[in-house]
Amino acid sequence: AQKSEPSVSIDGYGSNGASERVVVLVIGGGGREHALCYALQRSPSCDAVFCAPGNAGISSSGNATCIPDLDISDSSAVISFCHKWSVGLVVVGPEAPLVSGLANDLVKAGIPTFGPSAEAAALEGSKNFMKSICDKYGIPTAKYQTFSDAAAAKQYIEEQGAPIVIKADGLAAGKGVIVAMTLEEAYEAVDSMLVEGVFGSAGCQVVVEEFLEGEEASFFALVDGENAIPLESAQDHKRVGDGDTGPNTGGMGAYSPAPVLTKELQSLVMESIILPTVKGMSAEGCKFVGVLYAGLMIEKKSGLPKLIEYNVRFGDPECQVLMVRLESDLAKVLLAACRGELKGVSLNWSPGSAMVVVMASKGYPGSYEKGSVIQNLEEAEHVAPSVKIFHAGTAVDSEGNFIATGGRVLGITAKGRDLEEARDEAYQAVEEINWPGGFYRRDIGWRALPQKQFARNA
Ligand code: AMP
Repeated sequence: AQKSEPSVSIDGYGSNGASERVVVLVIGGGGREHALCYALQRSPSCDAVFCAPGNAGISSSGNATCIPDLDISDSSAVISFCHKWSVGLVVVGPEAPLVSGLANDLVKAGIPTFGPSAEAAALEGSKNFMKSICDKYGIPTAKYQTFSDAAAAKQYIEEQGAPIVIKADGLAAGKGVIVAMTLEEAYEAVDSMLVEGVFGSAGCQVVVEEFLEGEEASFFALVDGENAIPLESAQDHKRVGDGDTGPNTGGMGAYSPAPVLTKELQSLVMESIILPTVKGMSAEGCKFVGVLYAGLMIEKKSGLPKLIEYNVRFGDPECQVLMVRLESDLAKVLLAACRGELKGVSLNWSPGSAMVVVMASKGYPGSYEKGSVIQNLEEAEHVAPSVKIFHAGTAVDSEGNFIATGGRVLGITAKGRDLEEARDEAYQAVEEINWPGGFYRRDIGWRALPQKQFARNA
């Protein structure tokens, strides 16, 4: 890179211009964190990657050194680790440590941390807070009111009519949203949250909001407190079964880019939703640093995006497809975010598409058995050069076999010139894996590729 280039440009992997190198600690141990470690390890600005607690696949792939014994709920233990190993950047994967204030403690100790403070993480942790920011800063979202009294909530519901949406205010493990098609369903949801207290304190306030009709999409931006830059689009698949049937899960697969988010829509989302939120949070004295992940509804009647919810971290499995497509220096860009230096930064992405197919333990998202043996992972990774397997819930048994230890266990990822090629390679690799205790969806990408049949043993 020549000296005349703006200092904020982010060099690609092909560049040898990285002058500053840092040791990075990734917090978490799922597929998302494996993907972050993979991208950080490829960063010219990254000296070494630690991951706490990490998992068996992250260490065996060599993408990071895992620290299973580091208690990530103990900020002082994490700070001591950072001092001992000269960690210059902490990247927090999951929301729970953010909501409980890990980033606050690390920043106070002088350690650059990519992830919001507990106060800023309330954008995800409290629906009522998120809605009040939307109100105050004119961000398009569903019309709503908040209640702690069941009778008042029911009266409002009666006035509005069904369908209508009832949401527990706090974090309820993805189960706190009821889309009620009838008034009876809506009253039941209010009673279960406000009277029976099924979500505990997370449900002692409810947000009752207008039902929006349209296509859902996810949008991700990196935020430095004042500025935001968009990431590429990605589309998740929440339901457990083919054709989007069955219960909700953490996510059974994803692809990037997502054609539903056209360039025009992306600019509109930045201008009307992301940037007003970032400015609003700063004006509230609650600067947001980290990933802002907007769940959107592209409304059928207007074609315009409205905000359904915010998450304050990367989506899992969307992160996996974004990280295999990212060609910029991830450590450098995340450090720029921590320093408030994202203005004017643009990122490079591989052309074409990427897909991840999640393999989960049979029974997930209900109860499932742990300990089943998974074989042929190495063969699967060699099916095509672009295949990369991210581990979410694996361990190694006494005989050296990988075994399943969680609900979502593996993310089989591939890149292609187009989505069809990415999909074909990902499913070829999935079929190579010998894991009788696991299952996967056979139709990841169906919205973008509706015409094609999937895995041959379907
Ligand atoms: P949330 O946890 O807020 O993303 O809600 C979970 C799911 O409920 C969303 O992905 C939507 O499918 C649905 N949902 C939430 N809010 C609304 C709304 N206002 N109108 C229609 N569907 C909604």
